[in-house]
Amino acid sequence: RAKSLGRNTYAFYTQSITRQSQHKQRIYGELKDALEQDQLRLYYQPQVELATGRVTSVEALIRWQHPQQGLLTPNHFIPVAEERGLIHKVTLWVIEAACRQLADWQSQGMEVDIAVNVSPRDFAIDDFYDQVEQLLKQYQVEPKRMHLELTENTLLNQPRQIIETLERFRALGVQLAIDDFGTGYASLAYLRSLPVDKLKIDRSFVNDISAAAHDTTIVRAVIGLSKAFSLTVVAEGVETEIQQDMLRELGCDVGQGYFYNKPLSESDFREWLTQWQQRERG
Ligand code: C2E
Ligand code: MG
Ligand code: MG
Ligand code: MG
Repeated sequence: RAKSLGRNTYAFYTQSITRQSQHKQRIYGELKDALEQDQLRLYYQPQVELATGRVTSVEALIRWQHPQQGLLTPNHFIPVAEERGLIHKVTLWVIEAACRQLADWQSQGMEVDIAVNVSPRDFAIDDFYDQVEQLLKQYQVEPKRMHLELTENTLLNQPRQIIETLERFRALGVQLAIDDFGTGYASLAYLRSLPVDKLKIDRSFVNDISAAAHDTTIVRAVIGLSKAFSLTVVAEGVETEIQQDMLRELGCDVGQGYFYNKPLSESDFREWLTQWQQRERG
């Protein structure tokens, strides 16, 4: 009995693996079409300077306007793109869309930077740097307007090659941020050696600052660390005014989260920004 049960479990297991890989294969195929058929979108989430209330930058977060399934968030397709070797195309699409947006904003006198998320696999491509530099030139975008966000573990996996590329980006003027900071395994000594400008505190730690329990231990430590290394520190996942005020008091430079707004389409973002600026002035 146990044996046949085991066999059944195995059969179910392989069945579900097969279903999963069919599902991924379908997403892969559809995503390739999406790239060609203009179904990808950038949504923008404001990053607010805590001392002044100014919106100096936005994070660009990818969405897929799927013809049947509606607007899909990245967790539905980015992991598949990474697994099946499609992420580099996606990243270049994102960077080109961000350049186009920056050029558009620049021409309207709007000074807002854009931070994009890059994947560890992008750095395995030899001419990644050249491709980005080329896009910045093509759209006549000042490199300092572009920020690249990488997760802490990205930097651990293939350090040498990545760091050389990061140093080139930095020399060009592109700003570099470590995303989801505190969830990875980088040592302090290693961190200090990285050519980065910003740390983004993972939202799980920001979440600890709640009305019920103000556990600021980790946030305080990360802010201290950032100051010691002369880095700008950004808190992600700011959801309440209490969190914002605590972060400001602790010396955090920038806040991002639902308290300000969720990621918005470009036109919704512009509308929000106008209202925000009126409120800040008024
Ligand atoms: P991330 O870079 O850490 O982005 C922050 C995520 O947290 C976003 O989810 C954002 O919508 C969400 N978020 C922002 N504020 C709050 C808040 O106050 N509370 C909570 N609970 N969540 C908040 P999203 O857009 O679903 O993106 C998820 C992840 O997908 C991103 O995490 C990033 O790692 C990845 N991603 C997004 N766009 C791209 C892209 O263009 N390329 C690549 N390679 N990855 C991307
Ligand atoms: Mg990010
Ligand atoms: Mg993050
Ligand atoms: Mg995060």
